[in-house]
Amino acid sequence: MSSIGSLPEDFQKCVEFHRHLCPGLAIGYAVAKAALKALDLQASSDEEIVAVVENDSCAVDAIQALVGCTFGKGNLVFRDWGKQVFTFFDRSSGRGVRVSFVGPVPGHEERKRLREKVDSGVATEDDKLRLLELRDEAVAKLVSADSRDLFSVTEMRTELPPSTVPVTTRPCPVCGEYTVVSRMVDKNGDLLCADCAQ
Ligand SMILES: [Zn+2]
Ligand SMILES: [Zn+2]
Repeated sequence: MSSIGSLPEDFQKCVEFHRHLCPGLAIGYAVAKAALKALDLQASSDEEIVAVVENDSCAVDAIQALVGCTFGKGNLVFRDWGKQVFTFFDRSSGRGVRVSFVGPVPGHEERKRLREKVDSGVATEDDKLRLLELRDEAVAKLVSADSRDLFSVTEMRTELPPSTVPVTTRPCPVCGEYTVVSRMVDKNGDLLCADCAQ
């Protein structure tokens, strides 16, 4: 990771959060930058920006680190649709932006070939070094690329995902553990926690 010091400081923060350097994280960084620019916003530490992510790849960690959308705060919504698409909403203005990665990841084919060699245990030391070199090159290019070359960005106005609703909990009648009522399962007329209902 010799080149990390030359990467933007806010990207280094993403690496700290994610605990490794990878092109996926760099994609997420570029997504977050493009979205904040399109919405004319600074990164927020509260809940005014909501991100809806359509995959659970490394990219999402950059969005959490940079935009402050996190699972725990409820402003990071995961839709398991397997697409490199990220939609952001600004609750205060009602504006939204959909960022779709159209790629390509620089050096992707060669990295894929080398990864397969590593996974099957036949990679040479040179292969492993080349893999790192390709990773660093891809990261550097993605982090500094013009977002118009990487993404299709569409501004939108749309209904916001509901903001945090107060939750009611009650003890499960079988195990006694407090459970959010809307997550309990009706079993012959009794509301049980999902564990006990199985
Ligand atoms: Zn990663
Ligand atoms: Zn239970």
